[in-house]
Amino acid sequence: MTETQVNSGTLYIVATPIGNLGDISQRAIDILSQVDIIACEDTRHTQRLLSAFAIKNKTMSLHDHNERQRQDQIAAMLQEGKSIALVSDAGTPLISDPGFHLVRHCRQLGLSVSPIPGACAAIAALSAAGLPTDRFTFEGFLPSKSGARQAKLTELNEETRTMVFYDAPRRAIDTIGDIVKTLGGERYVVIARELTKTFETIHSDTAENLLAWLAKDPNQLKGEMVLILEGHKVVKDEIPSQVIETLKLLVDELPPKKACAIAANIYGVKKNALYEIALELKKV
Ligand code: SAM
Repeated sequence: MTETQVNSGTLYIVATPIGNLGDISQRAIDILSQVDIIACEDTRHTQRLLSAFAIKNKTMSLHDHNERQRQDQIAAMLQEGKSIALVSDAGTPLISDPGFHLVRHCRQLGLSVSPIPGACAAIAALSAAGLPTDRFTFEGFLPSKSGARQAKLTELNEETRTMVFYDAPRRAIDTIGDIVKTLGGERYVVIARELTKTFETIHSDTAENLLAWLAKDPNQLKGEMVLILEGHKVVKDEIPSQVIETLKLLVDELPPKKACAIAANIYGVKKNALYEIALELKKV
């Protein structure tokens, strides 16, 4: 394996482990060792990671409160030919972490931005959850206040894709309680807690059963957690038969997405509600 070469004038977006240090990639180590400076959310936190890999390099802070000021400074350094890595406290930068404004700014200036992929809690959880992964939505953190959380969940009631959320385990009982209230107790939920760490737990059940399980075991309310929610299941009988008949004709001639959009337009139904049916019809 050849050592990665760092290109001058490039901003590297470097993923770091979400718990288990063994998940760092060789490319991440090479880049973090060789860039001119590492921009990180919390310099002390990142110093611990760098020490674990005997990486000696300079760091500068880039967090939610100084990102807008830092972006000009970093862009100027890149224009001078410096190479810079961006890391967050854990996982992939920009995914519910700072960096979006910086990356957009650099791309608008035509500067080179290159990802060094690695761990991401949402994707790790999804890969082991056992819920459909062909289509999914990442919803980030749900609101911390119950009223706003219930409003958000109600808005997602008819979402047919698998939904991925970040949440604090200490809020898990309230969040799942709100899922029961807004979407019903039968909705399937997966809790992926402490991924890649000693107490990794992946547990799935209906929202109602999960509530009882959480209430019995306070250990499940510790650490870090990804919550995955099954999408709304469209029962064929809920869709008028003439819509299904039209959809059947359309999927014979068109890709499922296009067929759904046309049928949804003609009959004024939601196209998301038709997609699973269209896929089934396509198979027949
Ligand atoms: N950028 C990160 C990523 O790529 O996953 C996410 C950062 S976000 C501020 C932190 C949230 O990610 C936590 O509150 C939790 O929901 C989730 N998370 C991070 N590490 C985790 C882990 N080891 N197990 C489960 N969830 C984790």
